[in-house]
Amino acid sequence: MEMLITADDLRTRIDRMAGEIARAYAGRPVTAVGILTGCVVFMADLIRRIDLPLRVAFLTASSYRGTATAPGQLVIRDDFLPDLTGRHVLVLDDILDTGKTLTRVVAHLVDRGAESVKVGVLLRKIGRQEVPFEPDFVGFTIPDKFVVGYGLDYNDEYRHLPYVGVLPAGG
Ligand code: 5GP
Ligand code: MG
Repeated sequence: MEMLITADDLRTRIDRMAGEIARAYAGRPVTAVGILTGCVVFMADLIRRIDLPLRVAFLTASSYRGTATAPGQLVIRDDFLPDLTGRHVLVLDDILDTGKTLTRVVAHLVDRGAESVKVGVLLRKIGRQEVPFEPDFVGFTIPDKFVVGYGLDYNDEYRHLPYVGVLPAGG
């Protein structure tokens, strides 16, 4: 596996990101909403460093490419989401690629009554974005390669790797 971002670099950058987030909210209480499953490692590390009153929640957003639904149709499931009315929501995801997922998720959370919605991503892939979308907090900008580790999977594997790597051709 070709190493792209080391565990040390992840730690250092996520430390700084947590500071940026705390300063942006200036003591206001926040609900961190992670997009499963890719968010989990990044989110667990990030939230432990954010010095704010903080709640934690999750939703899933999956693109189904099967025969039952249109290609790439995004299905959001939020059965476990608490009431967000009047809450400042910080959405956390592993990677911003085309931007479609986060655009839809932000609209969904606004519909659910969030007072404000900001977005933090660990990675932003360059040259792939299809819809205009500006995340508020970005960990690392990366080239257009398929990456795994630190939450990101290939066929549900590799999420537990402590670094971000580039999958060799052929899986
Ligand atoms: P978007 O809607 O921005 O195109 O999709 C973002 C989602 O696509 C991410 O949450 C992630 O699940 C998946 N994705 C995009 N690029 C990569 C990548 O390089 N590696 C992995 N493992 N997943 C990716
Ligand atoms: Mg995802």
